[in-house]
Amino acid sequence: MSTNAAVARSALSPKPTYDVARVRSEFPILARQINGKPLVYLDSAASSQRPLTVLRAIELYETTMHANVHRGVHTLSQTATEAFENAREIVRRFLNARSAREIVFVRGTTEAINLVANSWGRSHVGPGDEILITYLEHHANIVPWQMLCAATGAQLRAAPVRPNGELDLEAFRELLSARTRLVAVAHVSNALGTILPVQEIVHLAHARGVPVLLDGAQAVPHQTVDVQAIDCDFYAFSGHKVYGPTGIGALYARESLLAAMPPWQGGGDMILSVGIESSTYNELPWRFEAGTPNISGAVGLGAALEYVESLGRTAIAAHEHTLLELATERLSALPRLKLIGTASAKAAVVSFVMDGVHPHDIGTILDSEGIAIRTGHHCAMPIMEAFGLAATARASFGCYNNAEDVDRLVEGLQKVRKLFG
Ligand code: PLP
Repeated sequence: MSTNAAVARSALSPKPTYDVARVRSEFPILARQINGKPLVYLDSAASSQRPLTVLRAIELYETTMHANVHRGVHTLSQTATEAFENAREIVRRFLNARSAREIVFVRGTTEAINLVANSWGRSHVGPGDEILITYLEHHANIVPWQMLCAATGAQLRAAPVRPNGELDLEAFRELLSARTRLVAVAHVSNALGTILPVQEIVHLAHARGVPVLLDGAQAVPHQTVDVQAIDCDFYAFSGHKVYGPTGIGALYARESLLAAMPPWQGGGDMILSVGIESSTYNELPWRFEAGTPNISGAVGLGAALEYVESLGRTAIAAHEHTLLELATERLSALPRLKLIGTASAKAAVVSFVMDGVHPHDIGTILDSEGIAIRTGHHCAMPIMEAFGLAATARASFGCYNNAEDVDRLVEGLQKVRKLFG
């Protein structure tokens, strides 16, 4: 067949469908029985499961490559350094950062935000200044700013949300003022699934010369993230929510900002030379990575991001969106169940309450059916309070969930309703 004919045929042939059965087979934990029932895992927003390829990459590193990084002339140290720095390059590519110098390895989103609050914050924020967040934030994007404000005399402001869980952009615009030093918002809300209009937020903030930090913990697993296209200044995420290990994550920081930031932790690896009186600091990004890092974690994170790339982020997003629509329709039809957060742009998270049933009871009964969901305030107490709730039940979907998981969830909730009348 000529090349042209082959191209024409491939353009006509149907697009390959997302093979969720194959994806499921790559996650060994999904074969487990919980309380005598096949596991239905609907808690990926808290922590996702890991595919074999990630577990094997960690095992290969630990069994054949491990030594400390950046320090030794011996072969293993160089192999470990290459594996670690290769993982950084994968993160750079995944976020489409301009340079690997803009990627700092951290423990996770929480540490990334604390790094910015302590380093950038303490050198740029003073009395009377303001940090602008939203009511949708996870505690990791609230408490570090409260601590910064307490230390500097600045004030924390929060933009409200509409009853459907969307950000009130008008109110956000009004809160953005000449006093605002930083905007720090979630890309996707963990409690409600709302996808925030980050491009517009960045545009509004930059028009006033205000940098923007995005908490991408819930965005990176579900959609393509391009930090150059968004034009944000900081972007934080955690490995364990994107099919990688715990204890590893990354901070993207625009190089011009990072280069001017003081280190926030001192120790080995972040220096070029040390005297008793003073030290000179290392280049980017190592200046922000004091001490021995989580090397196998970084390797596992690199493998996880490559795994996501191999499935295709657009394909994952489309698959999860189908599940979200199905779950939204099926749960809305259940008597005396109310969905919390019905924004038009949502990631695959369904938060809900049931009349006369505490969310913890929902979680416990579903667990007896082998179904894992999250119940509580989801580390987002201000948004729960804004909705007048102490807690919700939350089902969150990942690349391995399927329509049968939605069926099992619905059956479980019908059982809850029967038990509670
Ligand atoms: N931000 C959001 C939106 C989250 O959902 C989470 C975790 O649930 C975090 C931050 C904190 O992530 P980690 O505990 O991995 O640092």
